[in-house]
Amino acid sequence: MPIDPSLPYDDNNIFARILRGEIPSKKVWEDDYAFAFHDIRPQAPVHVLVIPKGAYVSWDDFTLKASDAEIAGFTRAIGTVTRLLELDTPGYRLMVNMGGHGHQEVPHLHVHIFGGRQFLHMICD
Ligand code: AMP
Repeated sequence: MPIDPSLPYDDNNIFARILRGEIPSKKVWEDDYAFAFHDIRPQAPVHVLVIPKGAYVSWDDFTLKASDAEIAGFTRAIGTVTRLLELDTPGYRLMVNMGGHGHQEVPHLHVHIFGGRQFLHMICD
């Protein structure tokens, strides 16, 4: 079920619990601003999620409330992770689902990184 992005941040959402180490994850990268881990149900040969360390429900919440340092640090971390995964030369796809129409399911901002094959069409179903 998609989330309601107008609700306050839920400290017990699954990604908050991953950040606190209460739930295991396949970690790819971590710094002061971001944590990256493999998606549990990969939709591509490489499917990694990057989440900010701060408590932000969605892309909308993050871009409204995060500091410039958090936004810069998070954005740079996504680039760092794609290079670490050696996706930069063949290329890759980034995706953020936001709110109900975006079919966001976890109420902690996450950027999907898809790679490992060529994507032919932009799919919006
Ligand atoms: P979204 O629809 O953009 O909210 O995507 C949520 C993503 O989180 C989906 O691709 C799920 O497969 C993924 N996911 C949910 N629980 C976990 C988990 N415990 N570890 C890794 N990925 C997860």
